[in-house]
Amino acid sequence: MIENRNRCLFCGEALSGRSDKKYCDDNCRNNHHYQMRKDDNAVIKSVNASLVKNREILKSLAANTKTMVMKEELVDANFNFNVMTSVYRTRKGSEYKVLYDYAYRIVNEYEVLILKYR
Ligand SMILES: [Zn+2]
Repeated sequence: MIENRNRCLFCGEALSGRSDKKYCDDNCRNNHHYQMRKDDNAVIKSVNASLVKNREILKSLAANTKTMVMKEELVDANFNFNVMTSVYRTRKGSEYKVLYDYAYRIVNEYEVLILKYR
């Protein structure tokens, strides 16, 4: 029998038996799957929360369908510039970051244009 040098993916114990074995037993396998699912859910929950918060910030600042605001206002509200629902570029090359029914474009170092779709 080929020696199994792997360790259990959940508890780290040295494994014996078949070389393709990944866990000590069903318990470790279930626990590991549960842990991975939990981690996935935590990531999804955190990104979703940032998306919703970003939209709330845009909503609170967008008085009209087109509103120019100071970038500082977004920064002060802890706007997360790394999360968005999509991105699009106009023919003229302007890039808009979309957050659900809002979009914004960083106009220059200081100003941000917010669009409201509905
Ligand atoms: Zn184990």
